[in-house]
Amino acid sequence: MKFAIIDGDKVEATKGATGFCQSCGAEVIAKCGTQKIWHWAHKRKTDCDHWWESETEWHRRWKNNYSADWQEISLLDERTGEKHIADVRTVYDLIIEFQHSRIDPQERIKREKFYKNMIWVVDATRLKKDYPRFVKGKKNSFENQIFYKTDNPKIFRVDLIDWCFPLDWLESSVPVIFDFLGDGSLDDSDGLRNNLYCLFPQIGSDARVAEISRKVFIDTTTNGQWTLRVQKFMNDWIEQKKIQAQEWKEKENQVLKKQRTQNGYEFSRKLLAGKSPLKRERKRF
Ligand SMILES: [Zn+2]
Repeated sequence: MKFAIIDGDKVEATKGATGFCQSCGAEVIAKCGTQKIWHWAHKRKTDCDHWWESETEWHRRWKNNYSADWQEISLLDERTGEKHIADVRTVYDLIIEFQHSRIDPQERIKREKFYKNMIWVVDATRLKKDYPRFVKGKKNSFENQIFYKTDNPKIFRVDLIDWCFPLDWLESSVPVIFDFLGDGSLDDSDGLRNNLYCLFPQIGSDARVAEISRKVFIDTTTNGQWTLRVQKFMNDWIEQKKIQAQEWKEKENQVLKKQRTQNGYEFSRKLLAGKSPLKRERKRF
């Protein structure tokens, strides 16, 4: 953890310091070595938040985009007594979790249910294959028809979403932000790493991905606009799907009606010509 409680204040780790865990209250000691990022660790083995993963420079850089008051917030589900430390909680009750390690989809679902109004920010540089796969999908937008443009130039309809993003995240019920920049040391000749890619919760097999600048993401999550914009986007999209389904149904009905009219016309024509269309039908069997 980045913070411990000393004399009622949230304090960062410094050499030789001791403090208390803000979640379980147990004693923690500062770990200020050269290998891992400076952090606080429980003095004794404890069953404090098992969701917590050891932090990297990537975690810290992300968290530091937000006020220290919003970082590492201990949250309690009063119904179950379950307690977890959110990476960031804004004053608008939006939870932002930064995930570097792999997370099992079942575990992911548990966390989405616990935090509810949340966003995942995923370190998408952990596996080497993830970025080339994404670039291939995005670049071949016209040849392979994976990324389709929508009315909004920054939002794409993505077919074959599993060709673009890691499977574990595809069925998330909350927005997932893929960050391909990592620690910033990777080649970015295409200039694609600097943007973030937000996969919205899918509707059926329909997927939408937004290309967002880091600044817009940080600004809108900080000023409360994020949740409103996502809600509006999702509502409009659901509405659009309903209209589309209605249109398809109407088209289908028109085709059926046309077929029935044609069949009826054919039947009458044969009768008038003195041929029984029924006989022919019977012969067929
Ligand atoms: Zn603890």
